[in-house]
Amino acid sequence: MKNVLIIGSGIAGLSCAIRCAENGVKALLISPFPSERSQSVMAAGGINAVLSDFETGDSIESHIEDTLRGGCGLSGEKAVSGLCHHAEEIIRRLEKIGTVFSIDEQGYLAKRAFGGQSHQRTCYCGSSTGKQIVSALVMEARRYEANGVITRRFWSCFHSALIRDGKCYGALLFDESTRKLETVYADAVVIATGGQNSVFGKTTGSTLCDGYVAGRLFMQGVDLKNLEFIQYHPTTIETAQKRMLISEAVRGEGGRLFYKENGSRVYFMETLYGSLGNLMTRDVVSREIFNTGKDVFLDISFLDKKTIDSRLPEVRELCLKYKGIDIAKEPILVAPSVHFFMGGIAVHLNHETNIRDLFAIGECASMYHGANRLGGNSLLAAIYGGMTAADEISGRNNCGVKVDFTAQAENENEALNKKMNNQSRFPVMYIRDMLAATMNSKLGIVRDEKALNEGQKDVDYYLSVADKINYDPSVQPYFNYSLTGILTLSKAILACAQNRNESRGAHFRSDYPERDQALCYSSIASYNDGDICVRFDKECEYES
Ligand SMILES: Cc1cc2nc3c(=O)[nH]c(=O)nc-3n(C[C@H](O)[C@H](O)[C@H](O)COP(=O)(O)OP(=O)(O)OC[C@H]3O[C@@H](n4cnc5c(N)ncnc54)[C@H](O)[C@@H]3O)c2cc1C
Repeated sequence: MKNVLIIGSGIAGLSCAIRCAENGVKALLISPFPSERSQSVMAAGGINAVLSDFETGDSIESHIEDTLRGGCGLSGEKAVSGLCHHAEEIIRRLEKIGTVFSIDEQGYLAKRAFGGQSHQRTCYCGSSTGKQIVSALVMEARRYEANGVITRRFWSCFHSALIRDGKCYGALLFDESTRKLETVYADAVVIATGGQNSVFGKTTGSTLCDGYVAGRLFMQGVDLKNLEFIQYHPTTIETAQKRMLISEAVRGEGGRLFYKENGSRVYFMETLYGSLGNLMTRDVVSREIFNTGKDVFLDISFLDKKTIDSRLPEVRELCLKYKGIDIAKEPILVAPSVHFFMGGIAVHLNHETNIRDLFAIGECASMYHGANRLGGNSLLAAIYGGMTAADEISGRNNCGVKVDFTAQAENENEALNKKMNNQSRFPVMYIRDMLAATMNSKLGIVRDEKALNEGQKDVDYYLSVADKINYDPSVQPYFNYSLTGILTLSKAILACAQNRNESRGAHFRSDYPERDQALCYSSIASYNDGDICVRFDKECEYES
């Protein structure tokens, strides 16, 4: 039986494992923590689909058109078409395996409006859509686990891939309990490790998503794409550990943004963009909030409590818990924060990277969202990407060639052991904090050449000291060995932003404020012996 190693057990990894199992392919699903702790459970607002049983005037063509418009010319048309055409099938499958979607008065799946979309097409489960979907997928995975087709393994982290002559044969995994590297061979490896949040410190996402895997693979020859496109979500609140998201669902339910001037409210988004102004795409709303230079509030208190409690219960609870503010009674202060990564590992339509038999899916891969993602499209893309990769892998003949990676495993094990035995109290997390400060200040909502050059200089310095730092036993080994990969990824992000001398979607350059049609291509970063090279994908290498 063919076997697949899937790294990361959020919605993308689960979806891929289940589809592999359905196709009769064995899947080993590994992650440091159970799926219930993946970032996917945080998804609140919903998942997009045009459903055929509910006449709203919506169409799959509109879904495609909205997604392409949101992506500002950089989302692959074929990829987006596949995504939108499979959306209903995905929702029906999710229902079938036990996802409890909210229902409207007529008994159809309820839909809400989301930013940048011409119709209400976001299906949801109250404001805990991700949690509901993860629960259903985990239950489904467990059915296949019972007969050994899926194996789930926790406390296991990716260390590096086993690549020879442009083909992947497996991965070295670090086992947190034995503190050893293990060699796992597989017919295909699927990366499903989520976004790059902790490169930016406090974001709305999970700190478990740190981009290490993308950074390490980059150093092993895997291309990365569109890294400069970092989505700032317009409405978040500050808490001690992280930024908490106030879901777009609040604006979808009619929530209004305003600032105060001379004692009155200025509903600036409505003034600038008309009645649908609050639901412009996230890049636009975040930039306009930034441009006000003022404290901005979100108001939903005009809705009756019953509606808020039935449609936004978790949001109300979250604001009460973290800020002591009841959104049913008063507005809440909000600010933009890093939320989602449109860029990531470059993949072809079948989700394979430039390395044969190495795939990437979900938020770690760059495919559907171009320069700006529409809310509700990434859960869909994570599931669809998982299915697509699984179908591709299942349909392939095994090449049957075995390659021995014992020497690589021994070398990496030895290097890790040496480092672990060479302990010091230098707080490795200090560099991560410095990196987050750099990335936040140099790659903000508005960037320019000077800031990006300064960012590169800072990261070069962190890299120059990273190798000399001895092992810090006060944090997990992973945080020690992941540092160089994360710093290299950060350099690649900055390099992509430096090369895109225009403003498009989430990438706004104050020194190049206009869109340049000559740059209507994805940026591709590649790594060659320590050098990072960025090119524009004019030949559409990654669209077919
Ligand atoms: C607050 C919030 C709300 C959101 N709301 C919505 C929404 O309403 N609709 C929508 O469409 N999208 C939403 N998103 C985005 C969406 O949730 C994510 O894009 C999607 O869930 C990503 O799924 P994933 O499987 O790719 O990654 P994740 O769910 O992040 O899973 C990544 C997995 O990889 C594992 N992993 C990480 N590093 C390693 C490593 N080194 N080795 C091994 N394993 C590793 C993690 O432990 C985890 O299991 C939201 C995001 C946030 C942060």
